[in-house]
Amino acid sequence: MKVGILALQGAFGLHERVLSRLGVAPVQVRTPDELAEVDRLVIPGGESTAISKLLDANGLADPLDDRLADGLPVLGTCAGMILLAHKVVDGYPGQRCFGAIDVAVIRNGYGRQSDSFSAPIAIDGWDSAFPGVFIRAPVVESAGADVEVLAKLDGVPVLCRQGSVSVSSFHPELADDDRVHRWFVEQE
Ligand code: GLN
Repeated sequence: MKVGILALQGAFGLHERVLSRLGVAPVQVRTPDELAEVDRLVIPGGESTAISKLLDANGLADPLDDRLADGLPVLGTCAGMILLAHKVVDGYPGQRCFGAIDVAVIRNGYGRQSDSFSAPIAIDGWDSAFPGVFIRAPVVESAGADVEVLAKLDGVPVLCRQGSVSVSSFHPELADDDRVHRWFVEQE
């Protein structure tokens, strides 16, 4: 199994480190050819507006859309969640929104950089809390009936899955805990 990490902007290096630690040997994805090679993809946190522009500039937006429609397993964290959402409230005009998971998100809904925080996240079926790090994170305003909400913080979904698409509003690559990545690569 070849796991790719979208490496246009943002926290891709840290995801790479966690996945390498799991023995997965991830590859960086910056071109349509590289995207075509992978069986799974992580879309990292960073700045969704910048990633959106770079996806267009690198000719990756349409191929990514096609792969998502074909059921490519994908994990989107923070900005990655925003890109995969069905609806982005307060997105910048023209911002890509792949609609791969039926959630509506509010960009920067948890506040500015200085409002960053961490909180223990209780994930359904996991035996101990995951350390969630939130940095200008999106707030999930609503999740459709087909979305499995695996964790909430103060009643708001923070880890969700719909079919092959998983998203977190927190940054699992910043925790000293590789369970979210392991869960993603071990998904059927
Ligand atoms: N607020 C950022 C955005 O709009 C996401 C922040 C993050 O990924 N840490 O893309």
